[in-house]
Amino acid sequence: MDRSLAELEAIVRNRICKVCTDRTVDGECGLEQPSSCALFRLFPQVAQAIHSVESDDIQQYIEAIRRNVCSVCVDHAADGSCETRQQVQCALDAYLLLVVDAIEEATAKTFDRKSLDSGAPIQVRPGPQTQV
Ligand code: SF4
Ligand code: SF4
Repeated sequence: MDRSLAELEAIVRNRICKVCTDRTVDGECGLEQPSSCALFRLFPQVAQAIHSVESDDIQQYIEAIRRNVCSVCVDHAADGSCETRQQVQCALDAYLLLVVDAIEEATAKTFDRKSLDSGAPIQVRPGPQTQV
């Protein structure tokens, strides 16, 4: 990765927070504890997981996130489930496609969205980000 983690995080914050449904009208994170957002709480692992995948198949990214990020997340249950994810409250999971896009673009890789026609499951919260 040529860009520093701090630079990547700034790029992803700029891209994701502005479409996140948890953002307030003032442009701040509306979570009770903004530092609890899994996307940024575990950002080094997120960036590493995405960087480790060379594929246009979003499923590969989902698997890398489950393996390398969810596995160390406090919200992760022993059976692999996640209540936060099920309630579409995890910004990382809800906006994964946009996160992958932002990181791949910032690191000079491209994600071919044509593969999404294969019907790979991905949760996306309602809002502007549904225009993917
Ligand atoms: S929940 Fe996460 S992605 Fe959403 S505004 Fe807060 S910090 Fe940004
Ligand atoms: S989906 Fe759940 S376990 Fe995975 S990062 Fe999000 S909150 Fe954590």
